[in-house]
Amino acid sequence: MLRSHTCGELRITDVSETVTLCGWVQRRRDLGSMSFVDLRDRYGITQLSFNEDFDGDLLEKARSVSREFVISVTGKVTERSNKNPNLPTGDIELVVEKLDILNPSLTPPFTIEDDTDGGEEIRLKYRYLDIRRTPVKDKLVTRHETNKAVRDYLNNAGFIEVETPYLIKSTPEGARDFVVPSRLNENQFYALPQSPQTFKQLLMVSGLDRYYQIVKCFRDEDFRSDRQPEFTQIDCEMTFVERQDVLSTFEEMIRGVFTSVINHDLGEIPVMTYADAIRNYGSDKPDLRFGMRFNYMEDVAKGKGFGIFDNSESVIGITVSGGNQLTRKQIDAITNYVKRPQIGAKGLIYCRVNEDGSYKSSVDKFFDQDALKQWAEVCEANAGDIIFVLSGDLNSTQKQMNELRLHLGDLMELRNPNEFKACWVVDFPLLEWDEETNRYHAMHHPFTSPILEDLDLINSDPGAIRANAYDMAINGMEIGGGSIRIHDKGLQQKMFDLLGFTPDEAREQFGFLMNAFEYGAPPHGGIAFGFDRLCAILSGTDSIRDVIAFPKNNMGRDIMIDAPAEINEHQRRELSL
Ligand code: ASP
Repeated sequence: MLRSHTCGELRITDVSETVTLCGWVQRRRDLGSMSFVDLRDRYGITQLSFNEDFDGDLLEKARSVSREFVISVTGKVTERSNKNPNLPTGDIELVVEKLDILNPSLTPPFTIEDDTDGGEEIRLKYRYLDIRRTPVKDKLVTRHETNKAVRDYLNNAGFIEVETPYLIKSTPEGARDFVVPSRLNENQFYALPQSPQTFKQLLMVSGLDRYYQIVKCFRDEDFRSDRQPEFTQIDCEMTFVERQDVLSTFEEMIRGVFTSVINHDLGEIPVMTYADAIRNYGSDKPDLRFGMRFNYMEDVAKGKGFGIFDNSESVIGITVSGGNQLTRKQIDAITNYVKRPQIGAKGLIYCRVNEDGSYKSSVDKFFDQDALKQWAEVCEANAGDIIFVLSGDLNSTQKQMNELRLHLGDLMELRNPNEFKACWVVDFPLLEWDEETNRYHAMHHPFTSPILEDLDLINSDPGAIRANAYDMAINGMEIGGGSIRIHDKGLQQKMFDLLGFTPDEAREQFGFLMNAFEYGAPPHGGIAFGFDRLCAILSGTDSIRDVIAFPKNNMGRDIMIDAPAEINEHQRRELSL
């Protein structure tokens, strides 16, 4: 080893030891006859001191190093007179006796310290330098620890890791595929997997019983903030299980990960139906760190001569506890927020509940104190609260109210990043009607089993069939989803039929799976977690980019290696492009 210790290791108990450290120069400070260098490596920072009285030549050499030089130093650990309580090594410094410059450095394009002056693009271009910064590096460490905790749990629970291929066949279902031209098979293309879904199901037919893989998946989607074209899933599948078995297994996994990575007890994870989630929060991934459930006010809001409510299918109110303190200006800003085209509300009605129990609403002309009292009862509002009301058709009002609820949660500082509230959402609709193509899509994917007792709706009202599918959400983010699968060829065929596949199309695209179902396919189910999102939540960041070592930018470009890029004529010809 070129060093005896790391830069994060030395303590007061090491005083008078002679040690050798290696690392990068974070900063140098020159004071009269002395110089101090902060030496950094993955493990921390140690202060080095150089003193003219001790060795003038050495001081001169020290003054030739600048930011990001790689150096090696040998010296004596000494107690500091000026201690730094913010640094684990802050009680000591190394009085240097020997300095080797291992490699000089250009001046870095941004400051490599916890707080940097570098913008996002430049930091992405020099990502290897950005990773030298502690907050960036720490997130990769958290990612590693999360990966390890997941593997430990699954390995102990009898799951085996199996790798599935990256070069597979394109299927039109789901998102857009990335395709890879095949040189040996002219004019033919592989596709990169959007998930190993069919392969993991085949492994269940193979009898592997419990499979997992922490695996890259690829989806060629249009720009959406915080999407990466390649991302990582914790992909799992189990045989001879029902929904509750999958939920229990993975609830234990996620709780274990939170305990081991951030020492946080998530507690029991509540299960709610999709219908309840939409009804109470207008979202299938509700943020449960705060209340503000929806209240349906049609009975107390309609029929009082206020046309907007009278002509609406739904009138929904939410109560902001202590919200009467909001000023007129703040309410105007909230109103403008919901009227933005992305949200699309026509307006926002409010009702204050004053400290003396009287009411003041924006529709006092139509609603007297008694009528508003009824509002307060339905919305469980008390003195000092405010009620916000939106109206319109049910679907849009729920969506708008969800946006308003989250916005108010932010405004009232109820979305504490150090608090974690998880939930399972179950019983999703099996199918989703697509207005554009005039046909049903699988809401989850075509291999998800319907809830069998709903099957008799298959001809009369297929849209009402529930899926045996489940998602896990944490703090309003979907972090995982899965389902009990179809393992019966007849049912799978029926599903393809519902989705508008002709028998030929179904055979061409999924014949291998249908064939496998003829050779003793066991009941099975599984789930996949978004590993990047899980790491982001555990690292306290909103962006998955922060937890990926070499992420792509918003346009799907890697601006460090400059990809994607053109290929040369020769390559093109070889690939018949
Ligand atoms: N393959 C699914 C997905 O990527 C997850 C699953 O059903 O296990 O969403």
